Amino acid sequence: MLDSKALASIPLIPANTAPPAPDYPWPKPYTSAMFLSFDVDAESAWTSKDATHAQRLITMSYGGYEARVGTPKLLELLDQLDLKATFFVTGWSVDAHPAMAEAILKAGHEIGHHGYHHLLPDPGDPWIEEELERGFDALKRRLGVKPTGYRAPYGEFTEELRVALVRHGIVYTSSFRDDVRPYRHRLADGSPGTIELPVTASYDDWMHGLSARFSPRPIFPKEHVLSIWKDELDEVRDWGAMVTTVLHPQCSGRPMRLRLLREFLTYAKSCPDLWITTGEAIAANFSSHEAATT
Ligand SMILES: [Zn+2]
Repeated sequence: MLDSKALASIPLIPANTAPPAPDYPWPKPYTSAMFLSFDVDAESAWTSKDATHAQRLITMSYGGYEARVGTPKLLELLDQLDLKATFFVTGWSVDAHPAMAEAILKAGHEIGHHGYHHLLPDPGDPWIEEELERGFDALKRRLGVKPTGYRAPYGEFTEELRVALVRHGIVYTSSFRDDVRPYRHRLADGSPGTIELPVTASYDDWMHGLSARFSPRPIFPKEHVLSIWKDELDEVRDWGAMVTTVLHPQCSGRPMRLRLLREFLTYAKSCPDLWITTGEAIAANFSSHEAATT
């Protein structure tokens, strides 16, 4: 029910006060970019909704597919296409499936932070700091990695989280849906935040291709999703902007979805103007232009 006191407390300013995304060139010869990224949640995608799912073995098996089949098949595809990507991996997935996480790293891909138990960051949650620390610890302990990129579980953010990420040395985040080019966050106190590499629901494979008892959705055929992905990409290329993929091995690692992704990435690779790369590379490019203009 709407609470009039709560409504009156909503500040009369935009929720995100970051200045507009700066207009700077992509590295030559490119005029647009694709941040190729995957979210590796494994079973934590399910237990983060309800810890008792841990006892529901079929629900858990959707996540288990990632380590058994999905991630190896995706790594094989990226190798065949000679592409490097960013994998945002939950700490739980690293601890439960160390061989899968090591294989991602060994193949030369970037590893990003994606929480520990994949808990939704909600205002006032007491576990935001613990989720961050446990995630950093798992990546360091198992992989020797100190991530520079962070994607929020469920793509949700709070001001407390934005501040904590800067304190922990995170360079870039990739969860906001309010732009098509990288920009610098501004924290509530006016100080600079992380670099944002924005996302869009269009490139979240879960929306089009995964259906389960606790996440029932229609599944769309390859032609339908390819049409969305290509239209978005081609328009963004005309704008000189960027797209960000949000792909999950438990979805895009399925045979039909892998075929779709192979076709899409083969098309993307045929675009000579498109820089297909990791979040780390896009953030570094942003930083060098920012440094040159300030
Ligand atoms: Zn996730």
